[in-house]
Amino acid sequence: MKQKSLLYTGKAKSVYHTDSKDKLVVEFRDDITAFDGGKKDVLKNKGSYNANVSAFFFAFLEENGVKTHFFSMLDPHRMVVRKLEMIPLEVIVRNIAAGSIVRNFPFTEGAKLDPPLIVIDFKDDARHDPMLNDDIIIALNLVTPAELKKIKKIALEVNRLLSSLLSSQGITLVDFKIEFGRQGKSIYLGDEISMDSMRLWDKKTGASLDKDVYRFEKGDVMAIYNEVAQRITGQKNSEKKAKDLFKVL
Ligand code: 5GP
Repeated sequence: MKQKSLLYTGKAKSVYHTDSKDKLVVEFRDDITAFDGGKKDVLKNKGSYNANVSAFFFAFLEENGVKTHFFSMLDPHRMVVRKLEMIPLEVIVRNIAAGSIVRNFPFTEGAKLDPPLIVIDFKDDARHDPMLNDDIIIALNLVTPAELKKIKKIALEVNRLLSSLLSSQGITLVDFKIEFGRQGKSIYLGDEISMDSMRLWDKKTGASLDKDVYRFEKGDVMAIYNEVAQRITGQKNSEKKAKDLFKVL
């Protein structure tokens, strides 16, 4: 399988065509951004930490019956994925109040949200990803009512699976954002699931183990990404673990 021309470039990933019409290559770059791109840096190895953690989660979710776009890793920062028509929704599941939900509503930081809250934002940088409701989603024709129901069900299942996996590694899954895409009538989990798109707290110390370290300058971001990637994938060198996910294509 050969990587071909660039299809799309985002804030931290680039997507390439391949010689197979149903497959794309996602390159996880070392760029890190926050606050709508207002804060930006390039941090060595950041792309491979996120790629490997994403690959690990996608493989774990597939084993547990969740359909994802993931096929395999090409190298530590490039992933082969199913080509999807992406749905411009950011589906956020929250187990504990933190971040924008605390800024925008009278929730107390750290309060448990039981049952978990699903919040859906419109993926539109120019509009600063505004929060949607079901009626707006349907009126905009972004998904059908049946697809919306399905997406929410999958989001809660991903939350159940990842919360339990991370808990066994001493990590609380506070919240996360996922994105979906279609191939024909089927819905797949797309994009990434990494320290950039989750809020993770150490169960013992409460310390942030995610992009909040970068957003709010809470410590050495790359040391923490390295540590958390090792904890999640169970490997000293998380790049090694990715080799288990490599397949000859
Ligand atoms: P919040 O709405 O509190 O800023 O974010 C909630 C969760 O979703 C956090 O784990 C955050 O990292 C993730 N999230 C929300 N919006 C985005 C986004 O545009 N990009 C990424 N990568 N993650 C997001």
